[in-house]
Amino acid sequence: MSGPATRLLQAGSPVLRSGSGPVNVPVVRTSTVRFESSAALEDHQSRRSAGERVASYGRHGLDTHQALEDAVTELEGGHRAFLAPSGLAAISLVLLALLSPGDHALVADSVYSPVRRVDQTLLQRLGISLEYFSPGRDDLAALIRPNTRLLYLESPGSLLFEVLDLPALAAIARSHGITVAADNTWSGGWFCKPLALGANISIQAATKYIAGHSDLMQGIAVVDSPALARTLATAHEALGLTIGPDDAYLALRGLRTLPVRLAQHQRHALRVAQWLHAHPSVERVFYPALPGDPGHALWKRDFSGASGLLSIALRDADAQQARAFVDGLRHFSIGASWGGYESLALIAAPGRLREHGGWHGSEPVVRLHVGLEDPADLIADLQQALARAVPVRQDRAAA
Ligand SMILES: *Cc1c(COP(=O)(O)O)cnc(C)c1O
Repeated sequence: MSGPATRLLQAGSPVLRSGSGPVNVPVVRTSTVRFESSAALEDHQSRRSAGERVASYGRHGLDTHQALEDAVTELEGGHRAFLAPSGLAAISLVLLALLSPGDHALVADSVYSPVRRVDQTLLQRLGISLEYFSPGRDDLAALIRPNTRLLYLESPGSLLFEVLDLPALAAIARSHGITVAADNTWSGGWFCKPLALGANISIQAATKYIAGHSDLMQGIAVVDSPALARTLATAHEALGLTIGPDDAYLALRGLRTLPVRLAQHQRHALRVAQWLHAHPSVERVFYPALPGDPGHALWKRDFSGASGLLSIALRDADAQQARAFVDGLRHFSIGASWGGYESLALIAAPGRLREHGGWHGSEPVVRLHVGLEDPADLIADLQQALARAVPVRQDRAAA
């Protein structure tokens, strides 16, 4: 078998018809699918009902969608992929596909925090109960109930980048017949393969690294088995989820350069993280690729690299100074989301930090996405903004 980059670049490529063809799959726009006869239509519909991936209507997506599905299935090492109009829609798809009234799900407390809004505004109304646990401290086996159907987690976690022992947690869940779903957005699917580590479903906000250029919204869910594919296909259809072919094309284009972009994000982020780690105004850098990070050993075992997203806690600073620091940055724009080529900074809301069971700090935390700009420029920018907003206390400067 060829290597992972080769397979990623070739997955979903158009087959040459009559001796030639384009490199890239065309953007196939349609609402209606036409059939040469009623019998052909019926044949498509029955193959589709049997679980085959054929389109009998535009909503199912045609060539461009299928090429993207093939490529992300290859990337995640799964059985089948489902496309959704945003990362959050992919998460909601998985939750709604797997959970029924009366069901219970265990959710790592470090997950992308809008999951809690889905819980509060939708799942609770449906009689579905989500329970948040701290993977580092709580005993997962002791929390499992007879009606626990799903373990949902994200490693490393959003905001503080806690690396979880996914193989160990997944093994416990699976021994109880519980499905395991993991949000794999941080790794872009390139540096981590949750399905190989024991998860049944890997979810990504393709909005981030797969798109890579901050120009589209998209989510994917990749499942590891035909049975789960049927379960997700039913919910995907019922919810009417679909994406536009132009967005499918852009995501596929992003995928072709995912490995090189991520390698560069990693190089830049490591340099920035090491510089921040040595800065007296920085209390802590949350980035598992740093040797001192509590998740470093697990990260080394389960990941082949680190992306460009990290956080810092500012030392001897209050919320106002954190704002001044972020406002003083010139090469980092202020904004949510990440995974594009550009650098971003965002203050983490204290309430969201407190959702993480392992967080006892009171320092303001700033999340940084380290982009593809020259790292020396980014470091100089961080230096000037820190110097103005968070002056080093004299006793520390002397130490
Ligand atoms: C951004 C993000 C999402 C949601 O993706 P959207 O496309 O913005 O809906 C989900 N999980 C993680 C970890 C994210 O960072």
